[in-house]
Amino acid sequence: MPERPDLEYAVKVLRKEVVGLGIAGVRVKKPVVLRVAVPGKIDELLVGRTIGSVKRMSHFVLFALGDLEIAVSPMLAGRFALAQPSGKQPADLALALDLSDGSSLQYRDDVQMGKVYVIRAGTRAEVPGLGKIGLDALDPRRFTREAFRALAARRRDQVKVFLMDKAAIDSMGNAYADEVLWEARIHPKAMVRSLGPEQIDSLHDAIVKVLGEARDEIARRAPPIEEKVRDFLAVRGRHGEPCRRCGTKIRSAGVHGHDADMCPTCQPDHRGKGIVDWRKLKPS
Ligand SMILES: [Zn+2]
Repeated sequence: MPERPDLEYAVKVLRKEVVGLGIAGVRVKKPVVLRVAVPGKIDELLVGRTIGSVKRMSHFVLFALGDLEIAVSPMLAGRFALAQPSGKQPADLALALDLSDGSSLQYRDDVQMGKVYVIRAGTRAEVPGLGKIGLDALDPRRFTREAFRALAARRRDQVKVFLMDKAAIDSMGNAYADEVLWEARIHPKAMVRSLGPEQIDSLHDAIVKVLGEARDEIARRAPPIEEKVRDFLAVRGRHGEPCRRCGTKIRSAGVHGHDADMCPTCQPDHRGKGIVDWRKLKPS
């Protein structure tokens, strides 16, 4: 799924290409993704409006259209593309905005799990997932070690679940959470409260490093926005390949319904260690 580094890059490109353009037409190909929270037909609502800004918030991309706003959550497989309306229409096209310069802004989604909300400006908090945005992991003034320690101190869950909580940290999904845990050498199922202060600090530093480097790497590659560049990742999607650090085979483990790719040597499982299991002790 597209994550923060992918969305930041897409937003940067979209800002350059579509801000200031008018909407000349709307084509809805997969209505299941659309959530229109204002009365009226979609084309009557949108045609004639100008795209005022594009920005990312959490795992959403927001397009400002005067007193309306479009909020797109690409979820599992959604992606944006810029195309000519006359070009071949991709099979996964969900929604297209035909723009005043003759180009077309496409939202594509081959599993149709993403959502495109059309809302009144200022009502963003009513969209599920936009009500509470976590601490911006790439804002060095706010995302300090101290702030992260305070966040972690309140958690009673597994570390990977914590990292993926977008209301706590802005933001990571499955792939970058795996990368961060490998970087910090922490097992994905470790309980947050079992981590020592040094591990919490290295987790913080790993988040900043992994997300920052991914953002820079994608910007450097400058792919078409519909492509997701992941080949530079260390563990995600590398099940069975040798760990870059130690050579052990990368393994997959289930964490709360998500799969986690990890190195069993670099990320040892300390759960239950040092605790006496009285049930296994025989009376002497
Ligand atoms: Zn390793």
